[in-house]
Amino acid sequence: MDYQAILENIYREILPYAGEGKQADYIPALAEVEPDRFGISLRLMDGSTFELGDAHTRFSIQSISKVFALTIAISLEGEAIWKRMGKEPSGSSFNSLVQLEYENGIPRNPFINAGALVLADIMISRLQNPEQFFIDYIRKISDSPTVDYNRRVAESELSTGYLNAAIANLLKYHRNIDNGIDEVLRLYTLMCSVEMSCAELSKAFMCFARSNEEFRHGEVTLTKSNVKRINAIMQTCGFYDEAGEFSFLVGLPGKSGVGGGIAAIYPSLYSIAVWSPRLNSKGNSIMGMKALELFTTETSESIF
Ligand code: GLN
Repeated sequence: MDYQAILENIYREILPYAGEGKQADYIPALAEVEPDRFGISLRLMDGSTFELGDAHTRFSIQSISKVFALTIAISLEGEAIWKRMGKEPSGSSFNSLVQLEYENGIPRNPFINAGALVLADIMISRLQNPEQFFIDYIRKISDSPTVDYNRRVAESELSTGYLNAAIANLLKYHRNIDNGIDEVLRLYTLMCSVEMSCAELSKAFMCFARSNEEFRHGEVTLTKSNVKRINAIMQTCGFYDEAGEFSFLVGLPGKSGVGGGIAAIYPSLYSIAVWSPRLNSKGNSIMGMKALELFTTETSESIF
């Protein structure tokens, strides 16, 4: 298959969507991002890559970091993690407070903010230096020692993150956070502030595409079964209240972030990452979703 030609075709086909939507601005530092960037990186099992546009420009991965946090928490806690959060799609926005109240402080899944705050809490309880561990782990799986947090973005989110603070308080009230709320919010916003390029993300996501192997990194051990589970949660919960739509249009397990990135995988075949900062009302990248929809359509390589 001529993947490069397919990516170039897709780029032409999505151009009419350029200019739709806008970048996230509820985190002040993210409002400064140039909205009209676009990058895509496809990586096959043999390591070959196909790229286009700003595939090597780093951007804020935001909620894509929740997949890495889940990977670490699952390997540290095992099955016990599911006592503290569910694995059902939320059908609500990523920062919804109301569902958490109805459900007595048990987040619907690890990929909404409430769930990821619990993941951060687990990492703080289990790791000596969670901040260092998290970034080292991403550096390792992306094979990029210079990947880092953007502390200015984290600070900017922390100083305006009233809703996340409310979620953390509700979790704490229901005893689903063991550590101090400030510490948990600090680690959570730092995780979201990590900057990676599409090329680095597609490399990192290969550990979820290689579902036929056991994946190990230091203390992080993912059994085949855990890889299967993480992919299942990406499929059902990776796009908040648009998870059904992404499944319907694209048909891959994936995860989005309000920085405009989306990373997705096809088990045993490829991983793909795309970036375009302009978002729809659900907080997902408009051109990114369109590009992936065209990719799985034109290659006939969706899991369905
Ligand atoms: N840091 C962001 C927040 O908590 C992440 C949201 C996202 O990417 N969907 O609001």
